[in-house]
Amino acid sequence: MFQTLTPQAPDKILQLIGMFNADPRTEKVDLGVGVYKNAQGVTPVMRAVRAAEKRIWDNETTKTYTQMPGEPAFHAAMAELVLGKGYPAERLAALQTVGGTGAVRMAFEIARMANPGTTVWVCDPTWPNHLTILDFMKLPRKSYRYFDAQARAVDFAAMIADLQAVQKGDLVLLHGCCHNPTGANLTLDQWGTVADLLAAKGAVPMIDLAYQGFGDGLEQDAAGTRLLATRLPEVLIASSCSKNFGIYRERTGCLLVLGDAANRAVTQNTLGFLNRQTYSFAPDHGARVVTTILTDPELRRMWEDELEEVRSGMLGLRSQLAEELRRLTNSDRFDFLAHHRGMFSRLGATPEQVEKMRTDSGIYMVGDSRMNIAGLNTDSVPVLARAIVAAGV
Ligand code: PLP
Repeated sequence: MFQTLTPQAPDKILQLIGMFNADPRTEKVDLGVGVYKNAQGVTPVMRAVRAAEKRIWDNETTKTYTQMPGEPAFHAAMAELVLGKGYPAERLAALQTVGGTGAVRMAFEIARMANPGTTVWVCDPTWPNHLTILDFMKLPRKSYRYFDAQARAVDFAAMIADLQAVQKGDLVLLHGCCHNPTGANLTLDQWGTVADLLAAKGAVPMIDLAYQGFGDGLEQDAAGTRLLATRLPEVLIASSCSKNFGIYRERTGCLLVLGDAANRAVTQNTLGFLNRQTYSFAPDHGARVVTTILTDPELRRMWEDELEEVRSGMLGLRSQLAEELRRLTNSDRFDFLAHHRGMFSRLGATPEQVEKMRTDSGIYMVGDSRMNIAGLNTDSVPVLARAIVAAGV
């Protein structure tokens, strides 16, 4: 039977990693893969994560199964992190998932179960996995314009114009912060406009929150999500702990589902069912680490301090790069790099220019010119700036 299989399209980022590894040049710069790296190019285990792991190691007495939808303590800690203190617990169902991707997948699954005819509206561009998961699930999707390629900023007028066509019961996927791949984000006022529009249309927002704490801060990065959560009757939120806790391989995520309090129990039951049908219990270790950190004041402070170092480090690199380019080009046309937030910025280079930067300067970025700012350090910023100018971007 396996003869019927055909190869899937290769993952562009994995291909890029292969090319980077094979490049013998020592001054090469990897801006491809979406993983945080410090100035030494290392993705560190965060201090609070180490401390929490030690505590778990010392105190854990069993490895028996947990609960099908995940531990309530994890749900509560994540709900408070994402929605803030005083979140409406009576309206909230939650699911521990296999990473943020698992939360995205389960959000699509429960939306399909609740409304088999749902169309999912996706921003253009978006994280490619959104599209491939939807296509794999055969869920109908439509896209709305999001990015003004010329200004390298959100094209809000186009976004709102496209979302006028949303139908009652459709799902509208939004990036909670640190938009991947562009780095361009909605202002809080714009989130308000989106909330009004979706409320008027009877559409349900699904927020992918994969980088909380990487943009403007833990609270600020959740502000748009919180605004929708207070204004709309139903909201799905897929939260990832991979980046902000640096626990990529532990596969830790959480799906939060806000709805009518009267439906909470059946929604919670459905979420557990989805885990059961897919992989049964989600992995425990990462979720236990996250719960330990978020519920212990000392570990939480340690985590927030390190996350702040990560965030401000990336902002510093953004400013340095924008300044270097201002100096080299005698213009402010790259200032958008300092305004973008999160790990990524879309530079706006053509595929040929991306290729030229790779061949001539050993700069590796994705073909659509998405750059991982965390792949830089203060020494490689001037190298990148010169390569950008030399490629004629
Ligand atoms: N959503 C977006 C937009 C992402 O960029 C990512 C990771 O790259 C994820 C979700 C999920 O990440 P993970 O499954 O590793 O938690």
